Amino acid sequence: MNIAIIGSGFSSLAASCYLAKEGYDITVFEKNETIGGRARQLKKDGFTFDIGPTWYWMPDVFERFFSDFGKLPSDYYQLEKLNPAYSVYFGKDDYITIEDTLEKIYAAFENEEKGSSIKLKKFIDNAQRNYDIAIKDLVYNPGVSPLELVTVETIKKLNQFFSNIKRDVRKEFKNDRLAKILEFPVLFLGAKPSDTPSFYSFMNYADFGLGTFHPKDGMYQVILGMEALAKELGVTIKTESNIEKILVENGKTTGLISNGEVFNTDIVLSGADYHHTETLLDKPYRKYSEKYWSKKTFAPSSLLFYVGFDKKLKNVNHHTLFFDVDFDTHAEAIYDDPKWPENPLFYASFPSKTDDSAAPKDKEAGIFLIPLAPGIEDTDELRDIYFEKIMTRFEALTSQKIKNHVIFKESFCINDFIKDYNSYKGNAYGMANTITQTAFLRPKLKSSKVKNLFFTGQLTVPGPGVPPSLISGKLVAELITKHHKL
Ligand SMILES: Cc1cc2nc3c(=O)[nH]c(=O)nc-3n(C[C@H](O)[C@H](O)[C@H](O)COP(=O)(O)OP(=O)(O)OC[C@H]3O[C@@H](n4cnc5c(N)ncnc54)[C@H](O)[C@@H]3O)c2cc1C
Repeated sequence: MNIAIIGSGFSSLAASCYLAKEGYDITVFEKNETIGGRARQLKKDGFTFDIGPTWYWMPDVFERFFSDFGKLPSDYYQLEKLNPAYSVYFGKDDYITIEDTLEKIYAAFENEEKGSSIKLKKFIDNAQRNYDIAIKDLVYNPGVSPLELVTVETIKKLNQFFSNIKRDVRKEFKNDRLAKILEFPVLFLGAKPSDTPSFYSFMNYADFGLGTFHPKDGMYQVILGMEALAKELGVTIKTESNIEKILVENGKTTGLISNGEVFNTDIVLSGADYHHTETLLDKPYRKYSEKYWSKKTFAPSSLLFYVGFDKKLKNVNHHTLFFDVDFDTHAEAIYDDPKWPENPLFYASFPSKTDDSAAPKDKEAGIFLIPLAPGIEDTDELRDIYFEKIMTRFEALTSQKIKNHVIFKESFCINDFIKDYNSYKGNAYGMANTITQTAFLRPKLKSSKVKNLFFTGQLTVPGPGVPPSLISGKLVAELITKHHKL
């Protein structure tokens, strides 16, 4: 049986491996020149940048993926646990560093506020229990029925679906800096901490309990590893193969049109953004309306810069967060009143701090990210204004001159997310995990309008992020195997 997969992001590649292992004949169609989707790589003048994800969290999910094929991550890439994991700036020369063990993190909290380590221990113990329930079990459900969420363990945790992370954190931690650090991990899920159910505190365990890792040569090595595995399993991958239409006859797809040519297939699976995939269908076959999408809370888009510096930078780590301005005002500009934030929070990554392959000797590779509302105006002028803003802040906060040390800068923003990935309103990482957009309430893996059409990826279950995308690929593969037995 043939399966055509649209896209070559983490979810599509994961699904391709599972389905090929089951014996299906798999062809992956990727519109771009290179595979990896949001996780592609940029190489320039001896510098190497991950275009999208830079934080390797939840190593157990990657291990579980590779072990399903009798493999280890180390068969494909070399992983290093970062120490420090990251640092967070709150003002000039004023930052807190998060190291690589819980003991060291408890000490950092205690140093900031006496007595806080005891509260943190309690918070992390609960987060770990949630992690065990969520990641070992719950997220591996296909989101078909609400009953999937009903287990002995989750019933005990029911109240945690009706409170939120911000409320929980602020109740225990009066110190604003510590509270901000604890609210940071759920930003990966795409919504404000005040809109993210308490149960998602498992992200705090992922952060402090499990730690932050870096694959040597960057996150793209994971994509290359998965490509190698897919090929070992017999998957065919075609790049520069844009899908223009999904063909449907009598409620069943018969194939795709790629670059003007018909490709007949038994099953279609799309890992491209859900909204875009449905536009490849004639209207009667689309399950979700434009109104449906417009009402959803999407994860932010981002303005990104990939910068080559002609010297090593000081006072920063591999991952550095700049939380020196008001989070709520920035969040309002993303979620409530979409506009460019006046004083943005930003994140910077300097992979060459720990990985020599990221930049030539004595030079630094810098990635800068400002979260933005999806769908707002994106122009070169705006990008330049914001580059200047964050460079000025960076210089002041870290006490060094960098503007005159830029060899080159490349940018990526809303228009590029739309052009490169057909992303809805240029969202960077899919649809947020809020209480009304969790599990069975997310867009479905199986089309209810076209019999043999399936979806995967960060707009489906379990949600945004690399580990969830791997899980999404596994879930959809199981669903296809169940509905279309070989
Ligand atoms: C800037 C940024 C930073 C991030 N940081 C992190 C992080 O640090 N850690 C983390 O875990 N996650 C992070 N994420 C999220 C993570 O990268 C994504 O959740 C994940 O990569 C999504 O994978 P996917 O398979 O769902 O989609 P995608 O990677 O978007 O894959 C979809 C693919 O479909 C292709 N496609 C679209 N339309 C067509 C068409 N018509 N024909 C053919 N192909 C098509 C696209 O080109 C793309 O390759 C980040 C994302 C971004 C953008």
